Amino acid sequence: MFFLADLKEKVLSNGQGKNKQGKKLNYNNIKIIAFDADDTLWQNESFFREAECGFYTLLSQYGAADKLSKELLRTEVENIPLYGYGIKSFTLSMIETALRLSGNKINAADIGEIIKMGRGILGRPVILIDGAEEVLKKLSSKYKLVLATKGDLLDQERKLLKSGISKYLHHVEIMSDKTPQSYKKLLKYLGVEPQCFMMAGNSLKSDILPVLKIGAKAVYIPHSDTWIYERVSCDNLKNKNFTAVEKIKDILNLV
Ligand SMILES: [Mg+2]
Repeated sequence: MFFLADLKEKVLSNGQGKNKQGKKLNYNNIKIIAFDADDTLWQNESFFREAECGFYTLLSQYGAADKLSKELLRTEVENIPLYGYGIKSFTLSMIETALRLSGNKINAADIGEIIKMGRGILGRPVILIDGAEEVLKKLSSKYKLVLATKGDLLDQERKLLKSGISKYLHHVEIMSDKTPQSYKKLLKYLGVEPQCFMMAGNSLKSDILPVLKIGAKAVYIPHSDTWIYERVSCDNLKNKNFTAVEKIKDILNLV
């Protein structure tokens, strides 16, 4: 698994960053910058972690939190091809896990509690990451900005509306998954060559590796609450040319 301390890249102030091997990366050709949303522009994962804690308490008779956590993750990952990402998928996975671990003995009231936990996330406020709006505002005068996110369509639309950042965006893409193919499709729609496109996000798996694969640029902005499924092993990062920054404002030193 990846650890943040392994990948602290130096950010220079002359419009370039350095990758882990010390190679200079040039961002001078960039025309379009896309941002991930959850835990890149606004807080998200912490709400899921809180709901999970409630789930572990509810199901404590069926195992300790670490066991329940592994079981829930297994269900969520198995369900991604069927349900995709987001709160609805998470809620169904909690119910499915509860049924499996209880041998279908969990009562209807507890299922109701689980549904309430999922719904509770939908009502959480949209809290922008520190510096996010300032970065979008500054970059929007020079670049076309895109929001490229996974998750539930309605929930992401809700968060975007509440965030107040739509005015800085040229385009919003809510994707079922972030694969090299889906990024290629997005770039084709935007009419931009890969070398002129940059993606910034907190997931190495979804925001960085697939973007590098199609020849575009990527900037990694770690977040302490990134879902374990979105992490990648260090082996997968070998010889990958991207810049990692500590916080979103550091992007202003790259482009
Ligand atoms: Mg994210």
